[in-house]
This record gives sequence, C-alpha cells and structure tokens, in this order.
Amino acid sequence: MNHSPDQTRVLVLNSGSSSVKYQLLDMTDGSRLAAGIVERVGEGEVPDHTAALDRVSGELSAQGLGLDSPALAAVGHRVVHGGTRFTEPTLITDDVLAEIEKLVPLAPLHNPANVTGVKVARTLRPDLPQVAVFDTAFHATMPEYAARYAIDVDTADRYGVRRYGFHGTSHAYVSRAVADLLGKDVTDLNTIVLHLGNGASASAVAGGVCVETSMGLTPLEGLVMGTRSGDLDPAAIFHLARVGGMSVDEIDALLNKHSGLIGLCGDNDMREIGRRMGEGDADAQLAFDVYVHRLRKYVGAYTAVLGRVDALAFTAGVGENSAAVREATLRGLGGLGMEVDTVRNALRGSGGRLISTERSAVAIAVVPTDEELEIATQTYRLVSAERPGTSER
Ligand code: ADP
Repeated sequence: MNHSPDQTRVLVLNSGSSSVKYQLLDMTDGSRLAAGIVERVGEGEVPDHTAALDRVSGELSAQGLGLDSPALAAVGHRVVHGGTRFTEPTLITDDVLAEIEKLVPLAPLHNPANVTGVKVARTLRPDLPQVAVFDTAFHATMPEYAARYAIDVDTADRYGVRRYGFHGTSHAYVSRAVADLLGKDVTDLNTIVLHLGNGASASAVAGGVCVETSMGLTPLEGLVMGTRSGDLDPAAIFHLARVGGMSVDEIDALLNKHSGLIGLCGDNDMREIGRRMGEGDADAQLAFDVYVHRLRKYVGAYTAVLGRVDALAFTAGVGENSAAVREATLRGLGGLGMEVDTVRNALRGSGGRLISTERSAVAIAVVPTDEELEIATQTYRLVSAERPGTSER
C-alpha cells in the first residue's frame, strides 16, 4: 500500500447515479491538474459506469495524465452514506466494500453508484490504494442527544433511524478555512457553517468538532433547499397518504424533487428568484422569505447550541454568490453579535473574505467550499500515514 515520495497525485471520483465527476490534484500544493464530468451515464454513448470511467481514463490520458501514471498515489472516492460504521476516511478492501453495500437501504439514490464507481476504478488500477471519504463522517462527533430522534429506541436502532448529516466534507473544509482566514486555530473557534447550494445544510462546529447539523437520516431534513422541503411535520406525510391518496413514492418525489424553492415558486435558481422579485413577483418573494426565515431559525438555534459563536461562514452556490440572502439572513441580528457590512457584503470576490462590520462580535465570512480538495487531502493523508516515517507529510 505504500507509495513513493514522487507519488504526489490523487484522483478524486464522485460517481453519481447519472454522472461521474473527477478531479486530478497535485498534493504538493493542492493544485488542480485536470477536472471534468461525464454526464448522462446510463444513456446512449455512456451505457454504464464502466463506460463512464473508461471515458474519464481516456480524457486523462489525452492530457498525458493517464491512470497508469506512476505519479498517482491513490484514488479518493466520495461516498455519501457511511452509517454509524464509517466515521473516518477508509482504505477500501473487499470487506469495506461489502459494508458500504449494506448501507444502500439508507441511501438508495447515492450509495449504489458510489459503490459501482469504486468497483470499476479498482479493476482499472488494482494496485492503487482506493479510499472512501464519507459525506456523513464529519458529523459522527455529534453528541447522542443531537443524533437521536425522540422515537422508540428499539425501532430506531433496528432500522438505523437517527441523524447522520451530510455535506460533511464541505463543513469540515469550510470550518477550517474560516479559521485560516481569521488567522486562528480551529480548536479555538466556535463556528456556524451555512452550506447553501442546491442542497443546503447548516452545522455548528465547536473547536473543529461538529456538534449539530441540519440534515438527518437523509438529506431531506433541515433548511429549505432548491427542490427539497427541509423540515416538515411528519404528519403531513400521513395526511397526504390518507386524504390525498398519494403513495409513499409519490410523497418521496414531492418532498425531494418538487418542494423547496421550486415547489414554492417554480424556480430553484436563486438568480432567477432574485430577478423575479425585482419585478414584484409575489410567489418568488414568498419563496425567498420562507427560505430566509428557516435559515434565521437555524442561526438562532445554533447560537444557543454553541453558547458562544466566533464565526459564521456562508458557502456553496447561494452562500458564495447571493448577497441578498446573506443580508436578509442576518438582518437585525445585532443582538446576537452578528452585523453584516452592506458594502463588503455587496463586493464580489473569488476567495474567502470577511463581510462583517468592525464591531461585529461574530466574524461573518464568505468562504468558497472545495469538496474535491478536501477528499484528496483526506485520501492523501491516509495513504501517506500508512508509509512508515512519513506521517508528518
Ligand atoms: P450543488 O448543490 O448542485 O453543488 P451549488 O453549490 O453549485 O449546488 O449551488 C447551485 C445554486 O447556487 C444554484 O441553484 C443557484 O441557486 C445558486 N447560485 C449560483 N450562482 C448564483 C449567483 N450568482 N447568485 C445567486 N445564486 C446563485
């Protein structure tokens, strides 16, 4: 499993049900050597994941960066659900793969494609270490009282019904990046991270350790998202079944694909919603208001969970780009020590930046997330640690 010092590259694979995203990174400086996406897996030219990875391999070879390169140290795979079994990046063996497959009922939309991606990559380079980095892992440190739903314990345990949380690589990366931005040690900082992409989640991170997050058994819980409802009275599901005559699959699709922003106003892109609001569109305005109201509730709740908040970070597509969402989320929260500087907030920028006023007790930041770099870093650290005498790398 050991690699030599000139093996400095990590290939990151994110195998989804209908696409495979890849990035090749050089870990001496974290630079990106190649990146791409193979879409419409399962259709026409790309009938399955074997064909998709063949294409990835071909695209890398065309740039002189083929999978056969001796500089490649490992492949890092994004795996969505690690259950309670996987709380760390894990070297993939036959046993590990079998365990990940056992978690498919918890993530039927994601884990099967992740597993297939791993299997195909292993056949392409059987000698290369393959590492699984789990979306749930960062949240495994949540205290039991935050991870438990208040339902019958035996039933919950029999079916694995508990809060796992997702977007973990992003929350891990951003909570450290905000500490770097502030020139502080992450262990000294209590941070709220708001990952607002098409999927959205919040986390409360105390001294680098996750203590609460908004997604639960699945990514459906919590914030209002592009197409997901987030929090909802579970009895709404019984009501839709009994009174509305809807099937479980229909309700699943309603809550995951036709709710959130798109359910409220027909658009899930915050840019389009902003444009419509500018024209006085009442549906777009309501969607925005519901979205922001939910966020504010979580900011308040996580302030209480942490007791003291030092930093709050906005990240992902909406968090990094929508000054309107950031401003509305924190408007009037001076009482919580959070004060956005409207001029700084309106400035566009590509790197991490502060948007709070000088007197704001909480440092408010915009921090671009980089899940691929985080997966590569965790992967490289694991395969390097396996090499005797190089644990400092
Ligand atoms: P994903 O969850 O798919 O990774 P992203 O983090 O890329 O999503 O976020 C995508 C979302 O970001 C889009 O649906 C859109 O709502 C929002 N977004 C992207 N650019 C902007 C922008 N300039 N202004 C406002 N919202 C934006």
